[in-house]
Amino acid sequence: MNRFVVYPGTFDPITNGHLDIIKRAVKLFGEIVVLVVRHPEKLPLFSLQERIKLIQKVTANCKGVKVDSLDGLLMNYVKDKEIRVVIRGLRAVSDFDYEFQMTQLNRRLYSEVETIFIMPTEEYFFLSSAMVKEIASYGGDISQFVPSAVAKALKDKFRIKN
Ligand code: ADP
Repeated sequence: MNRFVVYPGTFDPITNGHLDIIKRAVKLFGEIVVLVVRHPEKLPLFSLQERIKLIQKVTANCKGVKVDSLDGLLMNYVKDKEIRVVIRGLRAVSDFDYEFQMTQLNRRLYSEVETIFIMPTEEYFFLSSAMVKEIASYGGDISQFVPSAVAKALKDKFRIKN
């Protein structure tokens, strides 16, 4: 078992793309921590607790997945918990610039951690939480993009809002 691998993100909400990365990372490392970052500046649709609960629900059958949360700097968390590997997902070219900058900056803050990028299956190359939220907000069918518990949570959210 490897408790030293973390997969951080906003997960607002978790999608099949995130799940694809989680499963690949678990295969590689045996155990990973999915780290839900609060990110209030991103004005998430789901609260931190809701995001955590959804991840716990949809990964309940994935052995080796733990969920934790963070309200602060990733590199402080990583240092504190003696994490050795940060996992990030890499989709289309558009992710590259942001991820490149972030990895370089994180390395300046703490050089002992390695960021590893995993690509999802091509079906999920263009899938993002933002896109799923937009489709759901117009009542579109998102069942192929997210687990059913997440689809239901999105429906409930937009029903409440409308
Ligand atoms: P953040 O706000 O940190 O980018 P996200 O929840 O949007 O948080 O994404 C977390 C990580 O998962 C990022 O590395 C992102 O590139 C990756 N990711 C998001 N969607 C997908 C997807 N469809 N396929 C692969 N990786 C993804």
